[in-house]
This record gives sequence, structure tokens and C-alpha cells, in this order.
Amino acid sequence: MIRKTRLFTPGPTPLLPAAQFAMAAADIHHRTAEFRTLYTRVLAQLKDFFGTKNDVLILSSSGTGAMEASVSNLTSPGDRVLVLTAGKFGERWSGIAKAFGCQVDVVSAPYGQTFSVDEVAAALKLETRAVFIQASETSTGVRHCVPAIAQLLKDNGSEALLVVDAITGLGTSHIDMDGWGVDVLIGGSQKSFMIPPGLSFLSLSDKAWDRMEASYNPRYYFDLRKERKNAKNGESAYTPAVALIAALGAALDYIAGQADGDLVAGRKKLVENAETISAMTRAAVQALGMTLFAPDAPSAAATAVLPPAGVDSGIIVKELKSRFAAVITNGQGEMKGQIFRIAHLGFFDYMDTIAFIGALEQVVMKSFPQPGVGFGSGLIAAQKLYAERSATAAADSKCICGRSDACCSLQNPSYGAK
Ligand SMILES: *Cc1c(COP(=O)(O)O)cnc(C)c1O
Repeated sequence: MIRKTRLFTPGPTPLLPAAQFAMAAADIHHRTAEFRTLYTRVLAQLKDFFGTKNDVLILSSSGTGAMEASVSNLTSPGDRVLVLTAGKFGERWSGIAKAFGCQVDVVSAPYGQTFSVDEVAAALKLETRAVFIQASETSTGVRHCVPAIAQLLKDNGSEALLVVDAITGLGTSHIDMDGWGVDVLIGGSQKSFMIPPGLSFLSLSDKAWDRMEASYNPRYYFDLRKERKNAKNGESAYTPAVALIAALGAALDYIAGQADGDLVAGRKKLVENAETISAMTRAAVQALGMTLFAPDAPSAAATAVLPPAGVDSGIIVKELKSRFAAVITNGQGEMKGQIFRIAHLGFFDYMDTIAFIGALEQVVMKSFPQPGVGFGSGLIAAQKLYAERSATAAADSKCICGRSDACCSLQNPSYGAK
């Protein structure tokens, strides 16, 4: 049989064909009216995608560049900062903050879990200048409850800026930057945006822009004040990744097109899509005799799975690739061999999900058959879940922070009412 390569990886993610065509046709110079029209339009669309009144900036870098820019622009050497970490990307926050001379306090949760608000409250100091967190910790498939942390900072009258790496949170979860009081929200092109790696995005609150004036860590290429000034004129400070910006415009048009041209409504559909296919996947892997690595606070961006006892997760990664050209990811660092991860962010749909689960069943049945598990076990569970979800639009999805309003889920009945 022939095989079609398909990415089920949490970045890069499958490319939208319309975005690829836009990229190929982007033969324009960046100091022209033509580019300024494109850039201005894409920046406005990004505001809708981020769901904020604040400006969104585009940097030519992978997501880590925007993470670094938020540290270099908003902190000074010696600043006390708090990093909330439960995986590889949380650890990256600590590494960056230390590189820029911050005194780093850490609240950590074991891999596969999230921290409690009480633990964060206990670690928050009067001098804490910034709190760094992921909305979705891609290395473990965990969703952190950003609104609960934002509320904690408000309740404490904290001066700290709340900086959220939402690189896999955007487009997979409900995020209300302005309503919750998030000061920096960060995204990356190779995740929900359906385009290749190379762009990062960030949006900053007025409080963050004020802090920037008083902070004095070194910055040059990633001086956000320069980017903001140029963006106002429809340009970037340096030569931008023109082709990727054209691709981004096409992708945001596609997302808007899913909801009759309304980008905000299209973004909600994209989030709902990730929530549904991640729930289908969770149901299927459990029905196939495997265990969720993050059962209590699963991210809709990626599902991390523990294979049956004694099975190296690398075997599943390899078998899916060699037999079906389906690319998933192993665990990162010390989680290598322990878990495998399946992505749901961006250009995935029901059909992709069902096909993937079918392929996973083939691997399970051939490589480690188990009692009570047969062909169709995973598919039945996923099909039922899909049918239930489509029948009841307001299916309940519990919020990990324990708040009754399920604040961080799209299934929140008051979602969109704000
Ligand atoms: C992908 C990702 C990043 C960014 O990584 P880059 O390789 O620099 O793009 C950061 N945080 C999270 C949670 C991610 O998933």
C-alpha cells in the first residue's frame, strides 16, 4: 500500500494548502504599500485571534524568541520572578529568566500534573515582579489554569506581570486576556496557526508596556518598542518573514471562513474542534488499554499517553511512522520512552482523528494485543464521544481549577458572554 505522510505532532502541525499557496506567491518587498496593506490586515486579524484589545506584535523567530523577548523587555537584573512549571516548557522559563539575571522562585508540579493555586499563593512574594506560566504544557499534555492564577494576582494586589506562554494554548482553549488580566500572551506560527515555524506573536497589556520603560535588561533585535512603533505604520523593524506573513493571512482567512467570515467565531470553532478531537482521542486510547499521562488536567492541544506496562513508547512512534507514515512524538527528556504524544492543534478534523485511531488500533493489535481489546475498541469509544458531543453542544467539561463556572473551557455556558 502507499502511505501519505501526516503530522500528528504538537508543532510543527499540518500545513493549510491555501497558506502554502499564499507563501509561494509572496514575492513582495517589505517596504512597499503592498506589504503594508498585508501586514496591517494580518495584525488586525491577530487581535481577533488573540481575543484582545491590545496590539499583537509579530517577531521573526520560533516561539522561544517571544518568550525571551518578554523576559528581556520586562525584567531587570536582580528582579525576583516566579516560574510555575510542570514540564520542559516551564523549565525553559526558568532558563531564560536566569540567563537575564533574574532571581527565580519556582513552583513545580510533577510531570503530568498541574500546581494548586494554594501552592502558588504560598510562593508569591511582595517583591515578585513577574509570574511565568504555560497555558498548555506541551511536553506533558497538561492544561494549567491561567484564570485562577490571574485571579490570585488580583486578589493579592500583586505588582507582578502575568506572562503566559500560550503557544499551544491559543486555538485550543478559551483565553480571555483582557478579562482575566493577562499581561503578556504569546503564540507561535507552527502550532494552531496551520503554517510553518518561523513566526512568534505576543500581545502586551498597558501595564506591561509601562514596565518596559523602567526595565533595563539588554535587548536589541527583540526591542518590542521598536516593533510596536513600526507596526503602527504597517511595517516591521527589520526584514520580516514576508512569505510566512502571507501564509498567516491565508490561514486566518480560512479560520474566519469556518464561521461565515467572522474570525472570532471561527476561533471558537477551532477551539471546539481541538476540545472534541482531544476528547475522542482520550476515550480511544483508554479503550485500547492505555493510560492518560495527564488525566486530571488534560490539554486539548496534545494528548500524552502511557503505553501498556513494559512497552517502550518509542515502539509506538516507530510503528505508526513505518506502517502508516503517521508522525507522533515521543516524550521529551527523561519522559522519552515513557510516553507518546498526539497533537490536536490546528488543521486536524474528525476524519484525521478517526483515521489515526484506526492506525493506532492496528499497532496495538499487532505489537501488544491485550485481553478485552479488539479491533474497533478505540473507534467505538471515539465515535460515541463524537456523537454525544454533537448532540449536546453544551457538554460539560470540567475545569481543572475546580471553579464551578468551568472558566477555562469552551464548554463553559457563559463562554463568550463577557
Ligand atoms: C512549541 C512550544 C514552544 C516554542 O518552541 P519553539 O521551538 O521555540 O517554537 C514554547 N512553549 C510551548 C508550550 C510549546 O509547545
